[in-house]
Amino acid sequence: MTPIAFMDLKTQAKRIKSQVSARIEAVLEHGAYINGPEIGELEAALTRLTGAGATVACSSGTDALVIPLLAYGVQPRDAVFVPAFTYNATANAVLLAGGVPVFVDVDPNTFNMDAGHLADQIAGVTRAGKLKPKGIIAVDIFGLPADYDAIGAVAARHDLFVIADGAQSLGGKRLGKAVGALAPVTATSFFPSKTLGGYGDGGAIFVQDPAFAGVMQSIRWHGTDDARKESIRVGMNGRLDSIQAAVLLVKLSIFEEEIARRNAIAAQYEAGLRGLAGLQDIPVGYQSARALFVALLPKRDRVQAALKEKGIPSVVYYAKQLHLHDAFKAYGAGPGSLPVGEELGTRLLALPFHPYMSDEQVAVVVDAVRAAI
Ligand SMILES: *Cc1c(COP(=O)(O)O)cnc(C)c1O
Repeated sequence: MTPIAFMDLKTQAKRIKSQVSARIEAVLEHGAYINGPEIGELEAALTRLTGAGATVACSSGTDALVIPLLAYGVQPRDAVFVPAFTYNATANAVLLAGGVPVFVDVDPNTFNMDAGHLADQIAGVTRAGKLKPKGIIAVDIFGLPADYDAIGAVAARHDLFVIADGAQSLGGKRLGKAVGALAPVTATSFFPSKTLGGYGDGGAIFVQDPAFAGVMQSIRWHGTDDARKESIRVGMNGRLDSIQAAVLLVKLSIFEEEIARRNAIAAQYEAGLRGLAGLQDIPVGYQSARALFVALLPKRDRVQAALKEKGIPSVVYYAKQLHLHDAFKAYGAGPGSLPVGEELGTRLLALPFHPYMSDEQVAVVVDAVRAAI
């Protein structure tokens, strides 16, 4: 058996190498390194894949959050509600766009934003009177779409915007609707390790309202208006490279097959670990994109050490919640304020997971975890 990698990007790269080379060659031939025909082609393909109203390709998952925040006109005293159990980019984006992150706890079963605690935090901000509730960024953690019905209902009561941070969830679904069409605006990332990863940085914004997508296209290109050729708003360089779009177009041709394989591996892990380890609850009607596979373990650090002894890599996601990081402490209420996420941070372990793992490799990891518990 080949050694077990936590994540393997090389097997896929070998598989598609000749097609990728041909598409990159085509970019070198036409020479439109920025805004080449691959950008429009990728955006159209992603719009078809997701059922979004429009797709705006951009430079990273972080910029895919910053651009919509700028489009919504976030101001210095605006509160944007984000989970603390996520990657730091979610909260960074709010601060980069000039808003203030307010942290929300997660559900102990799905690990996604708890709509009840969201409502409490909105009430708290309103009572304190310093900040104005403006919007919500819900994260689809580990690939599982958040509960946009419940979050959307809270948002509607308070007239807040909702952005889905789908950096981990492209390929996920709910009731037949794909990530990209589950919220008014969805951000995704093409960082190499995401479910659709490029050979470098990239991202995309899925927007239901095509006119609003036009605002984001202008922000992506320095706030320029195409017809008037002048700045009509503050913008940035938020563009995706033609070469990355060319790579992603090849990867899209095997994307759905890989998502299916991710789900098959996750099912094998679940069958082997159910009853022994806590597992992320995938509610009825939901399909996770399965960016990562995590297990909730009582003696997490001991299990991780035992796996390491057998040459099996694993990673802790997310050990420390954002409200406890130096950069974000000032915006949170300290240790104990978000108990569910804080507890998950002490018990979750991500196991080796990628679409090119064999059934045999998954079985080896399952046996090692079972032996270590
Ligand atoms: C990866 C990630 C991002 C940031 O994406 P980049 O492309 O690295 O900027 C944002 N949010 C979440 C939840 C992520 O996992």
